[in-house]
Amino acid sequence: MTGSPTALVIGSGFGGLAAALRLKTKGYEVTIVERQPDLGGRARVFRRNGFVYDAGPTVVTAPFLLDELFKLFNRNPEDYLKIVPVEPWYRFRFNDGETFDYGGTVEGTLDEIERLSPEDRDGYLNLVQESRRIFEKGFSELAHIPFHRWGTMLRQVPALLKLRSYRSVYQMVSAHLKDERLRQAFSIQPLLVGGNPFTTTSIYSLIHYLERKWGVHFAMGGTGAIVAGLEKLLREEGVQIKTNATVTKIVTQQRRVTGVELGNSGEVLPADLVVCNADPPFVYEHLLDFPQRKRWSNWRLRQLRYSMGLFVLYFGTTRQYPGVAHHTITMGPRYKELLSDIFHKKHLAEDMSLYLHRPTATDPTMAPAGCDTFYVLSPVPNNLSGINWEEVGPRYRDAVVRELERTLLPGLSECITEDFFVTPNYFEQELLTRHGTGFSIQPLFTQSANFRFHNKSEEVDGLYFVGAGTHPGAGMPGVLSSAKVLDQLIPSVSNNTTPHRALKKTSSSRTKSETQTHAAVLAYHGKSFHWAGRLLPQSQFNDASLLYAFCRHVDDLADEASDPREAKIRLDQLRQDLWSEKPKQPLNQAFRQLMADQQLEQCWVEDLIEGVLSDLGEVCLQTQEELICYAYRVAGTVGLMMAQVLGCRDTHALAFATDLGIAMQLTNIARDVHEDAQRGRLYIPQQWLGENPVSAVQLVEGNQEARQVAETAVERLLDLAELYYRSGYQGMRYLPMRVRLGILTARALYRAIGDEIYPEPRIIWERRARVSMSRKCRLTITSLFKFLFDTQTWPVGKPQQHEPQLHQHLNCVRVS
Ligand SMILES: Cc1cc2nc3c(=O)[nH]c(=O)nc-3n(C[C@H](O)[C@H](O)[C@H](O)COP(=O)(O)OP(=O)(O)OC[C@H]3O[C@@H](n4cnc5c(N)ncnc54)[C@H](O)[C@@H]3O)c2cc1C
Repeated sequence: MTGSPTALVIGSGFGGLAAALRLKTKGYEVTIVERQPDLGGRARVFRRNGFVYDAGPTVVTAPFLLDELFKLFNRNPEDYLKIVPVEPWYRFRFNDGETFDYGGTVEGTLDEIERLSPEDRDGYLNLVQESRRIFEKGFSELAHIPFHRWGTMLRQVPALLKLRSYRSVYQMVSAHLKDERLRQAFSIQPLLVGGNPFTTTSIYSLIHYLERKWGVHFAMGGTGAIVAGLEKLLREEGVQIKTNATVTKIVTQQRRVTGVELGNSGEVLPADLVVCNADPPFVYEHLLDFPQRKRWSNWRLRQLRYSMGLFVLYFGTTRQYPGVAHHTITMGPRYKELLSDIFHKKHLAEDMSLYLHRPTATDPTMAPAGCDTFYVLSPVPNNLSGINWEEVGPRYRDAVVRELERTLLPGLSECITEDFFVTPNYFEQELLTRHGTGFSIQPLFTQSANFRFHNKSEEVDGLYFVGAGTHPGAGMPGVLSSAKVLDQLIPSVSNNTTPHRALKKTSSSRTKSETQTHAAVLAYHGKSFHWAGRLLPQSQFNDASLLYAFCRHVDDLADEASDPREAKIRLDQLRQDLWSEKPKQPLNQAFRQLMADQQLEQCWVEDLIEGVLSDLGEVCLQTQEELICYAYRVAGTVGLMMAQVLGCRDTHALAFATDLGIAMQLTNIARDVHEDAQRGRLYIPQQWLGENPVSAVQLVEGNQEARQVAETAVERLLDLAELYYRSGYQGMRYLPMRVRLGILTARALYRAIGDEIYPEPRIIWERRARVSMSRKCRLTITSLFKFLFDTQTWPVGKPQQHEPQLHQHLNCVRVS
């Protein structure tokens, strides 16, 4: 171990392998945890008596995405794998017995089209042109950028409308081609990524151009050889690989990832960040311990449209079929209706369309001499169908063999050997995909880009996603691109932009990178403050960020401890270093300098630490006095320090500044009642909760009576907060003009959280109340108007009198 921040990748599909390599280049200590004994996920390899079966992907498009991974480490990809072009890319066999070879050159494809339907020649050229335009937007521009912000999505809307992305792939293809067989051949691509061509957004017809641009390839030795090549590189680069280990829980503290728990051993692996390659719906439902999620509630997960399931039969033959192409697709008698059976009715039809893979067409070493290796894939309903595959599977296997014997492999039943199959049960039970899907959620317009699972979780800090369920989607190019998106989301260690760890790095002065780190902590944890902070002049913003980062550090020291005793020891060590002549910790050094520059009182810092100490273990406040004292210690003190940092030197201002801090803390408490209760903390005073005491456990367990009482108390809490917000507003006049708008905005944004809760307090059990982006914009504009036109915020007239009642409980504090 080098002491670098640690990153843990759950799952070793292509997305996970690529993410691990990319994280390694960023300076993290990386560990992959995989529940199977081998790597590759859907791309695992099964071996039986000399037959080598790639379990999943077989068609390699955009091979440069693989090359890139080797080049990241200055390696020559050819030293690790050999990728060769395949021709034809696909052979289609239609129900009328006609065949169509697709691939190679445009001229070759046009000749084939001419043979089947001469009038579609020009239409095909137009189709290629249109898919090129879609490719340039959908792949070149958008596949590698994060879509977790609405702004990114909104900016793309005009272009997506222009490309008519609301059309389905089948509609787009049909606009160019007339022959139904060709329409089918050129619209099946969504099935490669889990979608129904009749409902999948036409963005996915970019696959046409992707194939046209880079061709279709195969890795000698099979797709498993790619997995093996990547594994070799990972091991050479020191990435730890743990197989036969299932993650059963993502461990968090205050909604920040701290590690993962392994089910089979109960072992906890600590990590600074976690990248999930496991299926996102499964992760949100089963691996995170808070049922009240912000975006991905169980209700929302149920509303999603899941991709189809797959029945895959792997088999060898004791003879060879030299006339059978590497990739063949047989189209059954029905197309739209069969897809509707699979996707909508969830009914296993009698007829079938099949994809047959014969890798020995390109690499004969994948079977014993004189034999062929095959797999045949049939799209089937996912496990929402309720099909009992234990019972149906063997019958369906026989039907598939009969169909192959009839269409492509005469005499198959006499020469078939070593056959076995997987059904949606395998995907659900072995790979842990929800409903046993082959490709996670469907690639619908309403489930793409910002609407898909984000690469950066909105539920937990430090949690990221790669793989089929996230942006840009399934398929090897999709999941390799999803890992590329992480490049823009996860900071490099060498840049000191990993907020938590970077704070612990040593440096003697407040360098530019330290300033950036403090700002990153603020952006990470204090979104409203960060927003408002951008309205401050740079130097005040830097000082405010440092103050915030220090307070956060104090909090983290306590939270990261395993018990209150350890927390106290850590905070005592912090005090020792902080008050020593020359603090050793860079953050303490910087903060001491700030204290000196801005005349921050030592007693305020001590009160803050006292407040954090009072928060350890279980908390149950009894009276309003205790509540206000607590709010003063953990936030009123910050208000005091912030006033100084912002250049406010009138001592009258301090009482108002304290009140703004208290008001914000009361809002925090109202918002986090449920989350705090889960940690055994109840800040609403018992004296407000009626005759019978209410406990945190009752609230967590959903005791209706207790929750109703708590909801009423939350309203009271927000009423109380309002008094302190008003007082905070009266203090605005004391602030220097250059910082006043920023603080007015911060106040408005925080207060608005209470507005979200007040009309419907029961939402606190369901999600964390937050202020939407559009509301933030409106509140910023309103604050600007107040700044300009509300004379209360101007330093004119008689000085404001502070309301003494607001501090009647504050005997504990050192503020006038
Ligand atoms: C039969 C089939 C054929 C396909 N053909 C093609 C093709 O020809 N071309 C193409 O480009 N794409 C194809 N695809 C799609 C492509 O294979 C997938 O989209 C892609 O490989 C999925 O990669 P992924 O990164 O999402 O991870 P996955 O392959 O889904 O791997 C996820 C991994 O996470 C592990 N995991 C899950 N939960 C846990 C946990 N709790 N703890 C530890 N480990 C866990 C699983 O065991 C698994 O190994 C095909 C897919 C299938 C199924």
